[in-house]
Amino acid sequence: MSCRGWPSCDHSRASYAMEFSRHVLTAEMLDPGTKRLVRSSIDVRIDPLTGHSSRIVSERGLMPSSDFDLAAFARENQPRCPFCPERIESLTPRLPSSVHPDGRIACGEAILFANLHAYSSHSCVSVYSPRLHYLPLREMTERLLADNLLTQVAHAKAVFAADPQSRWASINANHMLPSGSSLFHPHLQGIVDSQPTTLQRMLAEVPAARFEGYLRAERRAGERYLGDTGRIEWLVSFAPIAPAELRAFIRGISSPVELDEELAVELAHGLALALGAYAEMGFESFNLALYGAPPGLDGYPLNLRLAARSNLRAFYRSDSTFLERLHWEGAVDLVPETITERIGGRFRS
Ligand SMILES: [Zn+2]
Repeated sequence: MSCRGWPSCDHSRASYAMEFSRHVLTAEMLDPGTKRLVRSSIDVRIDPLTGHSSRIVSERGLMPSSDFDLAAFARENQPRCPFCPERIESLTPRLPSSVHPDGRIACGEAILFANLHAYSSHSCVSVYSPRLHYLPLREMTERLLADNLLTQVAHAKAVFAADPQSRWASINANHMLPSGSSLFHPHLQGIVDSQPTTLQRMLAEVPAARFEGYLRAERRAGERYLGDTGRIEWLVSFAPIAPAELRAFIRGISSPVELDEELAVELAHGLALALGAYAEMGFESFNLALYGAPPGLDGYPLNLRLAARSNLRAFYRSDSTFLERLHWEGAVDLVPETITERIGGRFRS
């Protein structure tokens, strides 16, 4: 296992001296109106787990609230939607019988099927419900989320049984077009593969003591810690890759296949709280990744990232720029500690 040069990294030590590493850069310019010298600061932060860096810039309205008529757009594109009740049976691919004899997996209203456009050996899509072509974030209930998560868990378990080489499972979401979704109808996506993604690999290489130190330091600092819902801890990212980024950590399990129904419901509860907060902040598009490692990976807490994306509107600005895409550097104008204040005490009640 590589530690990639962490100064305080020593596997023989029981704990880490956890630091929230940051440095502030100052930029100068002459104001075009007053001609006076103006200074601005850029808060560069290093993620305590993977070491990537992120730039927090002055808030300047880069993520405006949604003013798009999503309901009208939903009515316009619904007649062609393959995930709606009239077409889901005939237009979505079934899972191979080697993975699941029924070809589809249902739980409550959620239905899971094979992804028409595969991104891994085992790619699947699961809708919250065929009837919910339009599902604004304020209407994302714990039940809808739990049932959809449980179809994903069942799929990952079925793949593990059918293909023992595939041990890396993740549950993901592109919600609304700005997040990368090619279809309007809300859904989750699962990837189960023999190969981890870059971040699955990087996170799986983080020593257990570093995860523990990070959570302990965030609990103690309190500036970004949101609370726990029982077995799952939630916080705002210190060095976000994307806007309004939240993280959750589930100790004791390392893969989505180890989520039992009770824990899936608890995770859904936290997600419903988080998405409700996003709705209050005016967001309607998000990405989600639940980064699974192989089951039983000692000390690895199954963890997720949830991030808001730009809102849909004509000529909208993408929140993903050359920094995120080509430098792997987050750049946001939403200060993590301000996001913590706006989410408030909902995870502590
Ligand atoms: Zn639809």
